[in-house]
Amino acid sequence: MPDLVVVANRLPVDLVTADDGSEHWQAAPGGLVTALAPALEGRRGAWVGWPGVPDVAPEPFSDDAVGPDVMLHPVPLGADEVAAHYEGAANATLWPLYHDVVVAPVYDRDWWEVHRRVNERFADAAAEVADEGATVWVQDYQLQLVPRMLRERRPDLRIGFFLHIPFPPVELFLQLPWRREVVEGLLGADLVGFHTPGGAANFRWLAQRLCDATIDDAPIGLREAPGEVRFEGRTTRVGAFPISIDSATFADRGADPATVDRAKEVRAELGDPEVLLLGVDRLDYTKGIDVRLRAFGELLDTGRLDPARTMLVQVATPSRERVEAYRRTRDEVDRTVGRINGDHGGLGRPAVHYLHRSLPPAELAALYLAADVALVTPVRDGMNLVAKEYVATRSDDDGALVLSEFTGAAEELTEAHLVNPHDLDGVAAAIEAAVAGRGTDEARRRMGALRAQVRENDVARWAAAFLTALDG
Ligand code: UDP
Repeated sequence: MPDLVVVANRLPVDLVTADDGSEHWQAAPGGLVTALAPALEGRRGAWVGWPGVPDVAPEPFSDDAVGPDVMLHPVPLGADEVAAHYEGAANATLWPLYHDVVVAPVYDRDWWEVHRRVNERFADAAAEVADEGATVWVQDYQLQLVPRMLRERRPDLRIGFFLHIPFPPVELFLQLPWRREVVEGLLGADLVGFHTPGGAANFRWLAQRLCDATIDDAPIGLREAPGEVRFEGRTTRVGAFPISIDSATFADRGADPATVDRAKEVRAELGDPEVLLLGVDRLDYTKGIDVRLRAFGELLDTGRLDPARTMLVQVATPSRERVEAYRRTRDEVDRTVGRINGDHGGLGRPAVHYLHRSLPPAELAALYLAADVALVTPVRDGMNLVAKEYVATRSDDDGALVLSEFTGAAEELTEAHLVNPHDLDGVAAAIEAAVAGRGTDEARRRMGALRAQVRENDVARWAAAFLTALDG
C-alpha cells in the first residue's frame, strides 16, 4: 500500500493512438509530473487522476512516466461529467473567477452538482488507495472539495492541498455561490499551500469571515512558517510555497552545444533579425498575449522599433478549445497578428511569427536561447513557469525578461523588467528599454541575478518544503 498518494485532475500519462491503430500510454507533458516525480521517487507512491479521455476506465497500472513503484489509479469520467465538471465548473467558473474575472465566470448549479459528485469520486478513490496514516497530496482548483470529503472518509490520513493558480481577492471570491463549501473543503486539509503570501492571506481571511474560523496573526511570507486556521476543533496550516522548475535540466539544455547551434539556426531561419522577441504561452485569455502584441504593434507603428530589424515569435499552444471564451481569444489573437503583419511585414518576412501549436522541449530551449527578450505579460497568472524556464536556459547571461507584476513569478524575479499589463505605454516602454539594454553590463547583472534565483529555488526544493511542512 502506498504511503504517498498524489490526487490530481489528470494522471501523468496520455492515451495515444499509434499509426497502426493500437493505443498506449505516454508521459503527459507538463510541469506537474516534473514537480511531483522527485517527491514520489523512492516512496511507495500512488497517483489518482482522470485518464484524460471520457468513458475510459482502465485498471490501475504503472508507467515509466513516474517510475515502476508508483501505481496510477484512474478515476473514469463520462463525457457529460467532463463537460460539466471540467469544462464547466473548473474552467468556465473557477478559472476565470480565480484569475480576477478577466472574463465573466458562469455560475451554473447543474455544473456544480456534477463537480461535487466528481470530487466525491476522487475522494473515494484516494480513500481506497491510501495506506493507514499515509500522506495524501491533493492538487489544484478542480479538486478543492476533496480534502474535507477525504477526511470524513479517512480521519487517519495526513492531507495536504496545493493550489496551482492564484487565490483571488476576497471581494471576488465572495461572488461564488458555493463559496463556503469551497473554503470548508480546503479546511479539511492539514496544510493548504498557495504560490504567494497574498493568496494565503486571502484564504485565511475568508475562513474567518465565512466559517467563523479562528486565525492566528503569524506572518505569511516566503519561507515563513505557515499560519494557522482553527475550525471545528482542528487546525489547518496555511502558507506560501512558490512552485518552480527543474532548473538544472533547463540550464543543461541551454549549455548543450546542440541547443546553442539550433538557436543560431533558428535565428538564421527567421532571416537573422537583429532583435528577436519571444512569447510562449498556452492560448489563454489570462496570458495577456493581446497586450504584448498591441504594445509591439505600437512600437512598430511609431518607429520606436524598426520592423526591418525586429521580429516577434509567439508560440501559443492550443488550449481548452471547447470553451467559448478560448475560441474568442484565439480569434482576437489571429486578428491582431494579421493586422501587425499586414502593416509591417515584408515579403517572406512577417513581423510576428505565430505558431499555434506545442513545441517539444529541445525546440523550446533553442527558442529561449535565441530570443533577446522574452515577453511574459499575463493579466493574472499563479506562477508562470515560462518566465523561469527562459531565465534558467540563458547559459550566457544575455537576454532580458519583461514580466507582468500580476504573475506569481514577479514576487521572486524582481530583477526582470516588471510591467503592469493594463498599462500599454508602460509595457511598450519596458520592451523598448529591454531591447535597448541588450549586451550591457547592467543587462547581464540582471540576468545573472535572475538565474541565481531560479537555480537556488528549484522544484525539488518546492516539493520538499511542502512535504516537510505537511509532515511537521
Ligand atoms: N510548453 C511546452 N511546449 C510549448 C509551450 C509551452 O511544453 O510549445 C510548456 C512550458 O515549457 C511550460 C508550460 O508549458 O512548462 C507552461 O507553464 P506556465 O506555468 O507558463 O503556464 P500554464 O500553461 O501552466 O498556465
